[in-house]
Order: sequence, then structure tokens, then C-alpha cells
Amino acid sequence: MIGPEIEKLIQLLAKLPGLGPRSARRVTLHLLDHRDTLMEPLASALAEAADAIRACSACGNLDTCDPCSICADAGRDAATLCVVEQVSDLWALERTKAYRGRYHVLGGTLSALDGVGPEDLDIPALIERARAPEASEVILALNATVDGQTTAHYVTDRLANCDVTVTRLAHGVPVGGELDYLDDGTLMAALKSRRAL
Ligand SMILES: [Zn+2]
Repeated sequence: MIGPEIEKLIQLLAKLPGLGPRSARRVTLHLLDHRDTLMEPLASALAEAADAIRACSACGNLDTCDPCSICADAGRDAATLCVVEQVSDLWALERTKAYRGRYHVLGGTLSALDGVGPEDLDIPALIERARAPEASEVILALNATVDGQTTAHYVTDRLANCDVTVTRLAHGVPVGGELDYLDDGTLMAALKSRRAL
């Protein structure tokens, strides 16, 4: 017989991505075994994050300040907007340290199957930002999935009247990738986007 507090914890943990009821039970026991070093610090970190972290009203990034530290950083190029589906994509691009412009988080992709239409994504704000005099390039860093590419086409159409260059990420052979192991779609895209040396 498990107490209601533990049962509640297991049920909540089981809602996390990648965790089912079985791993949620294991995580719960692990937390209870490491009460001082893990469970209590985690509880306060969760409470602090829930209280302090907000979505940036300009780009949709998550931060403790609004505008977020990327939007507020005068050292970043305000002329370039990189459009991503989710905050996790923004974080992935930030990890490369190769991009010094700003972002725009759409909050998903168009999907007929899941009933996601243009009104469900943060597209009007993107158009408005692309119309700003300082904007010169919009990079579409959307996933190479059917929905990602449908969204890229839609956004490109909507940006047609804005005075910006619209670019997208190259599709190609991954660094360290062997041709024989690539799927046909990746290989075909890499061949199509070949360039002169
Ligand atoms: Zn921001």
C-alpha cells in the first residue's frame, strides 16, 4: 500500500517526457533515498523556476527577465531573426555559439493532423518584427519534417511583402556521417544542395 503523497508524486513524474509509471516509481524512490542532496534542492529549484521564469514577450524564449537576456543584449545583431519551432531548438542553436542574432519561437508547426493552424502559432508577431526597419534577414531554422517544411513554406509566403531575405538551414550530410548510413531523404537533400568548393 503506497501513501497518497507518494502516489501523487509518481503520477506527476509519470507525466514527464520519457518517463512512464515504471520509471516514475524508480525516480520517486531515488528522490526519497537522496532527500537532502537531491529531493529538497530539486523541490526548491522547481519552486524558484515556476515563480521566476517567463516567456519573453518579444521572442518567446524562457528567461527570468522580459525581454529575455538575448533580446536585451545590445551586442547581438538585431537585423537577423532566427525562427525556431520550440525553445529547445533555440537552446540547441545557442549551444553552438555560432549565431549572434536574435530569435523568434513559433511555438510549434502547422499540422493538419493535430489541428494546428496559423492562428495557433506566433506568426503575426514574426511578421511585425520582420517589418521593423532594422530587420534584414529571417533564417528559418525549422525541423526537416513534413510539418516543419510546410510551416517554412507558409512563413516564407507570409514574409513576401517584408523587406527581408529569407534563408533556411542547409540540409546535408551530418558531420562525421557516412553516406552508406544516411537515409534516402538526407542523401537526396545533400545532393540537391551541393555547392562548389
Ligand atoms: Zn527574447
